Amino acid sequence: MPIQSVNPANGVLLRSFPPLTDSALLQKIGTADIAFSHYAEIPLAHRALCMRKLAYLLEHEKDDLAAIITAEMGKPIVEARAEIAKCALVCRYYAEHAERILAPEPIDIDPSDAHVRWDPLGVVLAVMPWNFPFWQVFRFLAPALMAGNVGLLKHASNVPQCALAIEALVRRAGFPRGAFQALLIEARQVESVVADERVAAVTVTGSESAGRAIAAQAGWFLKKSVLELGGSDPFVVMPSADFNLAVDTAVRARCINSGQSCIAAKRFLIADAIYDEFEARFVACMKAMKVGDPTLEETEIGPLATPAQVEDLDMQIQTAIAAGARVLTGGARLPGQGNYYQPTVLAGVPRTATVYREEIFGPVAMLFRVRDVDHAIEVANDTPFGLGASIWTRNHAEQRRFALGLRCGAVFLNAPVASDPRLPFGGIKHSGYGRELSAAGMREFLNAKTVVIADPQAADQPSQPAAVQ
Ligand code: NAP
Repeated sequence: MPIQSVNPANGVLLRSFPPLTDSALLQKIGTADIAFSHYAEIPLAHRALCMRKLAYLLEHEKDDLAAIITAEMGKPIVEARAEIAKCALVCRYYAEHAERILAPEPIDIDPSDAHVRWDPLGVVLAVMPWNFPFWQVFRFLAPALMAGNVGLLKHASNVPQCALAIEALVRRAGFPRGAFQALLIEARQVESVVADERVAAVTVTGSESAGRAIAAQAGWFLKKSVLELGGSDPFVVMPSADFNLAVDTAVRARCINSGQSCIAAKRFLIADAIYDEFEARFVACMKAMKVGDPTLEETEIGPLATPAQVEDLDMQIQTAIAAGARVLTGGARLPGQGNYYQPTVLAGVPRTATVYREEIFGPVAMLFRVRDVDHAIEVANDTPFGLGASIWTRNHAEQRRFALGLRCGAVFLNAPVASDPRLPFGGIKHSGYGRELSAAGMREFLNAKTVVIADPQAADQPSQPAAVQ
């Protein structure tokens, strides 16, 4: 894909960038490698200072940074500002908690002493998507830089200005040269970065196909990989739920980021006893969503990020209709300029329809009627994905059955699925492997190094890892 910003609201080309030449790419990897050799020695307290400065810059430049997001990928401006604010939050979280997470862990193997120290791996490549063009990057970079790793970013080709803005912010926050660099490269150039022996690991957030391709390369070169891929999260409503809150949340959970979120609720599984009322209310709320110019404060659904997104989405919907699905509202793109799609609700999507097992990346919901808890769990699990699930029931026995029976990375009861710096985030099945955020996310790119001291009397205190000086 060409590396260029095109405004999704009107198709205007804003900027384009030539991809890095092979020699320029090698030079940047070299810079990262040299940076790592010094960076891991920088005291943790200093890194925390830079991370707090980064949070400060994000907060103080929120409006300008949000405007870049909106211009490049069409996110409604209110959501874009919230995304920047959340990036500041993750910076502050790791600035505050890195020392605890990186502290050596003593292990009692009397009569010897033993402990685990957490050492950085080195240069980590992050291949990132456009849908949360700041947040996805920050939830990688904050723990990585606090832990002493250095980062290389291959951002999606349609958000190069976001990539460059993040690189500049990190530098201005005081992190050393080379600690975090944006690589303006095409997808076909990623393999050479993964293959480079100076690169230790790779994390991918994106589609299944990108995950498969890059994980295969990482596997071949025997490098650690983390995959955060797609999702088709269920949103289950049982009769004991707070009905009004469930409906309102269902609409927001489907339409967040104009429907382009891995953890957006995509399949709505409603108990038979309340299905008809839920359907009527949900459809009415979807119809009432304000679709339009993403720079306006009141806009709730903006354009999709690229023309290809609209094409793919419409193809999925038309195929579903051909397979027997009923359209309760929407079902077509909006006429005129920009990548707009009508908020859409489908019912009766047959299990044989391809869309039943696919991720839908746009403001399109599928409703299903379920008989009871067992049936809800069966349908919820009937997907290749396993990212999150939002379950609405006030019955404690039902809550326990859902928490146990759902095959996914996170179950949120009476709340929408959300990412939070304090909580491990990630999936199973085709949603990927590994975790981001919290202590678990930071440790993905650390070496849990075992140290055993057979003669504890002769030893001083366990040596502190470089990261905890
Ligand atoms: P995508 O097409 O897979 O692109 C993601 C990144 O991978 C981009 O930087 C892209 O570069 C690169 N890429 C794609 N194919 C590649 C290949 N064969 N080799 C190397 N790099 C490759 O995904 P997207 O459309 O941007 O993002 C939407 C997807 O991301 C959805 O499936 C969504 O669910 C998922 N997602 C998951 C999470 C999570 O945490 N689980 C979070 C957000 C999004 P180019 O742009 O140059 O092609």
